[in-house]
Amino acid sequence: MSESDAASGKPQSYTRKTLGKSDEEKPKAPEVYKCCDNPQITYFGVVNLNINERTIGSVDVWRCGVCKKQFCEEKQLGIEELTDVVGMPRIDSDAKWAVCVSKLQKGRDRWKLVKLKENGEIKFETVEEKIISLKVENFKIEDDQHWSFLIEENVNKAIEI
Ligand SMILES: [Zn+2]
Repeated sequence: MSESDAASGKPQSYTRKTLGKSDEEKPKAPEVYKCCDNPQITYFGVVNLNINERTIGSVDVWRCGVCKKQFCEEKQLGIEELTDVVGMPRIDSDAKWAVCVSKLQKGRDRWKLVKLKENGEIKFETVEEKIISLKVENFKIEDDQHWSFLIEENVNKAIEI
């Protein structure tokens, strides 16, 4: 059976042995983010984060070939990431992936992968685990101590932070 048959909800050919049990009673599979009906997600590229021309981290970018949606994964150099996200990380359709750079911090604490909406503000957790609000204008963080750039405009580039 092809995947499209399963998606169309056609009756399956085998007989159910558990009579009287509805589909709702089946254990739920962990939620996997589906960007569209038939996701074709492949590796798209990388953005390197440099300090004084030395790469201190990177963001892996994945893209769905069908709906062109992008997904990002933050990689800190020398740290094996233990992610609890199953499938691709979720992002709202009106948000974009970006890197937020804190001018106050050094080394790997200087940057963080964030999701920005066109306008508004984001809640940002600082190294001191303080939650601060940063103003966002036109997919850019507007703040004296922070700046940002969009992943989609910098795939396969090295950005000096
Ligand atoms: Zn998709």
